[in-house]
This record gives sequence, structure tokens and C-alpha cells, in this order.
Amino acid sequence: MKSIYFNEEHQSFREHVRTFIEREVKPQADQWETDRLIPKSLWKALGDLGYLGINHPEAYGGSAADFFYSVVFLEEVARAGYAGLSAAVSVHEYMATAHLSRVGSHELKQKYLVPAIAGDQLGALAISEPDTGSDVAKITTTAKLDGDHFVVSGAKMFITNGTSADFVTTAVKTHLEGKPPGISLLIIDSQSPGFSASKLDKIGWHSSDTAILSFDEVRVPVTNIIGEINKGFSYIMESFQLERLVGAVMAIGGMDAAVATTLEYMASRKAFNRKLTRFQAIRHRMVDLMTEIESIRQFTYHTCWLYDQGEVPVTECSMAKMKATELANQVVDACLQFHGGYGYMEEYAIARMYRDSRAGTIVGGTSEIMREIIAKTCLDDVQFKSAYQKTSDVPSVTPAELFASLDQRFKQQMAADVDLTLNFELKGDGGGSFTVTVRDGTCKVSEGLSQDAHCVVETEASTYVQIETGQMAAESAFMSGQVQVSDIPSMMLFGQMFRRYGS
Ligand SMILES: Cc1cc2nc3c(=O)[nH]c(=O)nc-3n(C[C@H](O)[C@H](O)[C@H](O)COP(=O)(O)OP(=O)(O)OC[C@H]3O[C@@H](n4cnc5c(N)ncnc54)[C@H](O)[C@@H]3O)c2cc1C
Repeated sequence: MKSIYFNEEHQSFREHVRTFIEREVKPQADQWETDRLIPKSLWKALGDLGYLGINHPEAYGGSAADFFYSVVFLEEVARAGYAGLSAAVSVHEYMATAHLSRVGSHELKQKYLVPAIAGDQLGALAISEPDTGSDVAKITTTAKLDGDHFVVSGAKMFITNGTSADFVTTAVKTHLEGKPPGISLLIIDSQSPGFSASKLDKIGWHSSDTAILSFDEVRVPVTNIIGEINKGFSYIMESFQLERLVGAVMAIGGMDAAVATTLEYMASRKAFNRKLTRFQAIRHRMVDLMTEIESIRQFTYHTCWLYDQGEVPVTECSMAKMKATELANQVVDACLQFHGGYGYMEEYAIARMYRDSRAGTIVGGTSEIMREIIAKTCLDDVQFKSAYQKTSDVPSVTPAELFASLDQRFKQQMAADVDLTLNFELKGDGGGSFTVTVRDGTCKVSEGLSQDAHCVVETEASTYVQIETGQMAAESAFMSGQVQVSDIPSMMLFGQMFRRYGS
């Protein structure tokens, strides 16, 4: 079904990923299921094609592309029909490296993000523990300061990529003298003395390696802290939104695979001298499910769009994840049923999909936790704010500095055929007049107003700073009249071509 969120470049990217999956994944994926492991060569191949850094900064080897390239990538990987593979890839790219990419120091990014994007090193994200999963605040793995190192002790449970990871982004309780313990994120090298990992036996996701990790007084340099110390809990809570979106997109891709393989089977199998596709009970159930898949797909795309605009769409991410993964269980159940006895045989793909799907409503926050979050935001009016913005930084940014940073935030790939000039008239303290011109794939900023502007934006300087730093949603500012825009399509196009300040 057509969608407004994808342009021709997304489509051609989709073709590339599909070709890759057909050539490099499908012929070997059964073997990876048997081996219970994805070979290092696949990571390198993914890295070489730029698939492991789709949204990561260009300065570290990523593409800084819009989020819909990730949607395309994740959907196509999931459509291969091996959820273990999807889990391993998505954990590496969207979970293990997400915090590092957003708030890690330059040195840490050089050391871990660059090789992760290149496919030379594999990452894992370790939050869950043997005694706590949903209740993240209750983790007990400790990091005690000793000179310029932390000494880490404890264990982590159910960790995807656990035995094969080169580094593990680990949630720890940091103990600093004179301060109450807080949660921080620490990168731990899997070669460190005292670190060990052993593989767990699962009912599905066989190609992904899931492990219990043990930390026996592992010494980790203080410089391996990601972002600010004791801010890990907020980072984790916020990045759950990305994790849940990724989970929803993958569940949708997995449902596409289940439907495709089942329709193929139904077209070839006959009963009572008719193809299965001719039986009304089956065909109606299939189209009911396909309609539901399409509904959650479009809702998930909308949520991805909100996310790409720099919002923290907690309610929508939770709804998308909950609905998509629960629907996936219904879909694989029906699809297996329509295969009859063959559906229960390991040699049929639907048997694997049936086993694999079951993890969806548990990982990355269970359905029960999703319902709790949705109830909090919808019934109790709880609001969530972004944790990544250093609040102390925000007031010191002036509109002039924001405009000066535009060329670093420019998404060049979005501006190929764009010719657009915008005038900004900012009133109040720190205000002024600025012109931004996007032409021939470049972005130019100058002081003063242009005679040839396609659009004029008028607002208070402080409102502009709030929007650009993610403190205020642009849509609410337009709707409440705090920003006047002479041509909304031009403004929307403009908004798509720049990353938010500080992201
Ligand atoms: C295959 C697999 C891969 C995984 N990969 C990773 C990984 O890479 N990194 C990582 O950190 N973790 C990983 N996990 C762990 C996963 O995130 C947790 O299993 C999940 O968050 C649930 O935690 P738990 O298993 O401790 O269940 P518990 O928190 O003990 O929950 C048990 C049951 O109680 C319910 N429950 C708990 N609290 C509430 C509540 N407040 N209200 C209502 N019901 C509640 C739950 O929904 C669940 O049904 C993975 C798990 C699996 C199975």
C-alpha cells in the first residue's frame, strides 16, 4: 500500500536491501539457525553497505539519514522471515549503539561507534538482570569508583548478541562517595578480565545469540561512561521509544513474511478439489488479518514520523509495539493453522515464524508494561520529556548560534532538488532577521531578509530556541499561533532538511 512517508530514494534503497537479503541472507539463514549464531562476515557485509549506520552521524561513518531509511531496512530484514536475525541486527544498530551515538564522548564514539558502524565490532545492550527485567530501577549490578576506573560486579540476563559482542552497553548502579547510587550507562569491553558470557537455550530466535553475562570485579575506565553520570535511567526510558518502534516495525515485517508464505502455500495446496485460497472461511480470516496489519503499519509509520521530528511519542510507541507484536502472534497462529499438519513441521518456514513471534510481546517491554504506560499517559495525564537535552545547555543557545549551526545539521540527501529560501523574523531578546537558502544541495545562512523568499516565519526568539532545541513541538507552536508562517508546505520541507539542535 502506498504511503506518504517514502520517496523514490527510499524505494530504491528498499530494492538494494531486498537484493542483499535475497543474495546474502536467505540462502544461508537456515544454517545460522542451526549454528545458533550469525557469522562475523554478515556484520562486515552489512557495514560495508552502510546498513549499520543509517541514522548515526556522518562524522563517525554513519549516513545521518531520515528515520524512514531505517524503517525500510528493518522491514526488509524482517521480511526475510528470520526474527533471530532481525533481533541481532536491530540490537546492534538501534540499541547497543543508540546512547553512544547520541550522548557518548567523541573518544568513545571513535573507539566503539566507528567500528560498530563499519561492522568490525558487534555490540550488545545489557539492562535486564536475573532478578529484574521490567523494573529497571531495581538493577543491582554495581560500578564502584576506584581511581580512574569503575569496578563492575553483577550479572545480566537474556542479553542479545551476548556471547559474540565485542562491547556491551551496560546499565550499572554507580556508587560515588557522598551521593545516592544512580543508574549510569557504561561501555564494557567483552575482553576485559572478569567478564564472561554463556549462551541460553531458547524456543525461538535461534540465529540470535542470547546470553547471561557475568561481571566479576571488571575494571572499566571512567571515560567509558556514556553521557552524564547517574542519568542512565532517563536515557534508558527515552531510548525505549526507539526500541519499541523498532520492535513494531520488525513485527510488521515478520507478519508480511508469514502472510506471504501462507498465501503461497494456500495457492498450491488443494482440499476437496479446490485450492485453499477458494475456501471462504480461510480467505476471509486472511483478509481480516491483512487489514489489521495494514492499520497498524500505517499507525506505526505515523509514530516513526513523530519520532523523526524529534518528539518523544511515548504513547504512540507503546501502542505500536503492543498492537503489532500481539497481532503478530495472532497472524502466525492463523497462518500455521492454514498450513494444516505441514505447519507443525520444522521444514516449513511458518513453524519457525510461529516460535519466533512469541518473543515480541516480552522483549523491549512486555505488553503488560505497554498497557501501564499507555494508561499513565492517557488516563493519568503523565507527560514524558526528553532526557538527552542537557537542560543547562539550552538557555545559553542564541538564535544566531542556532542559525550558524544549521549547515552542520543539514541533511544534504534530503535537499537534492530543493530550491527554497526562508526569511526568519525573530522578535524580542536575541532576535533578528535571518535568511536561509537551500539550493543545489547546499545550505546558506545570512543576516537580513531576502526579497525572493518563498516563506516568511515570524516568532519570538525564545520560541524559536525552544522549537529548535526540542523543548516545544513545532506543530503545537504553529497551531497555538506562536509561530506565523506564510507558506506551510515550504516550512514543512525546510523542517525535514535539518536535524534538531543537539541531536
Ligand atoms: C529472547 C530475548 C532477548 C532479550 N534481549 C535482551 C537484551 O538484549 N537486553 C536486555 O537488557 N534484555 C533483554 N531481554 C529481556 C527482556 O527485555 C525482559 O525479559 C523483559 O523486559 C521482561 O522482564 P522479565 O523477563 O524480568 O519479566 P518480569 O519483569 O519478571 O515480568 C514477569 C511478568 O510480570 C508482568 N509484570 C511485571 N511488572 C508488571 C506491572 N507493573 N504490571 C503488570 N504486569 C507486570 C510482566 O509483563 C510479565 O508478564 C530479552 C529477553 C528475551 C526473551
